[in-house]
Amino acid sequence: MKPAPFCYAKARSLKHALELLGQANGEARVLAGGQSLIAALNLRLSSPRLLVDINGLADLDTIDLDGDRLALGAMVRQAAAERSPAVIEHAPLIVQALSHVAHPAIRNRGTIGGSIALADPAAELPACLVALGGEVEIAGSAGRRRVGAEDFFKGLYETDLEPGEVLAAVRVPSATRASRYGFGEFARRKGDYALVGLCAAARASGDKLQDVRLVFFGVGLKPVRARKAEAEIEGGPFEEGRIRKSISALADDLDPLEDIQASKALRTHLAGVLLKRVVQQLSESRS
Ligand SMILES: Cc1cc2nc3c(=O)[nH]c(=O)nc-3n(C[C@H](O)[C@H](O)[C@H](O)COP(=O)(O)OP(=O)(O)OC[C@H]3O[C@@H](n4cnc5c(N)ncnc54)[C@H](O)[C@@H]3O)c2cc1C
Repeated sequence: MKPAPFCYAKARSLKHALELLGQANGEARVLAGGQSLIAALNLRLSSPRLLVDINGLADLDTIDLDGDRLALGAMVRQAAAERSPAVIEHAPLIVQALSHVAHPAIRNRGTIGGSIALADPAAELPACLVALGGEVEIAGSAGRRRVGAEDFFKGLYETDLEPGEVLAAVRVPSATRASRYGFGEFARRKGDYALVGLCAAARASGDKLQDVRLVFFGVGLKPVRARKAEAEIEGGPFEEGRIRKSISALADDLDPLEDIQASKALRTHLAGVLLKRVVQQLSESRS
């Protein structure tokens, strides 16, 4: 299939992109890496009147340490983030998650902002952002605003972004010596979207884990925090009994969707397997 006819404009600056989007009355889409958008156009799942290309906007393509937070510009390519020494040092969970996002050729074009703005429920980066307690910086005609990751993801491919706004950057707390991370996913083939995945973060205090955040993806309409399972792990050492209780708590935390790829029972079982593996990772010291 071919896309429905559309106009194309290359933005010269973020201000120019916002002007172009503003003039289109909600009938424009931002073009970032195009890895998801172009497929959606070709399948006619999306038929915008105008594409506003933000490739080449240098101020959206930076990785900076901003106090105790790492800021990644929306147009940072997923492959560039994966190789960035700053991301490796300050946000290792993002690096771990990115290695599961599609394939290298797609990550060479796909952007950090594109994945967050798309908000696919089976995608790694949205869950990662929630697990890290990150935030999203949004640029609009009235200026910039910041939204916490948990509030940004609203539902199936639905976010807090309004028509005419551009996701400018994401910010995550920089890793400290006490930070612990865990990641795991089941996919049919490496590089496929996850059947079930889990991103986790915690703070180690002696042999105890605190501020535990367990965020599943592929199980709901958006990243899902397993709060009851978190409570079973919070404040204690890694013990079989705690893990068992935490896995049982998933019955309250998760209500996985059923589809052609996996039944609800299979997804629930896989979530428990991942939880055990990932909490074990959280308990290991960082090298
Ligand atoms: C074969 C294949 C396998 C894939 N597997 C995975 C996978 O396993 N996990 C995974 O997470 N992803 C996967 N992807 C998706 C890939 O990661 C995409 O790169 C990503 O979802 C979108 O990034 P993009 O930069 O290409 O965005 P685009 O395709 O350009 O845009 C996607 C959407 O976000 C909007 N958008 C983009 N940037 C902004 C912005 N800055 N501000 C506002 N709106 C914006 C666009 O308007 C569009 O609606 C896969 C893609 C393919 C083709």
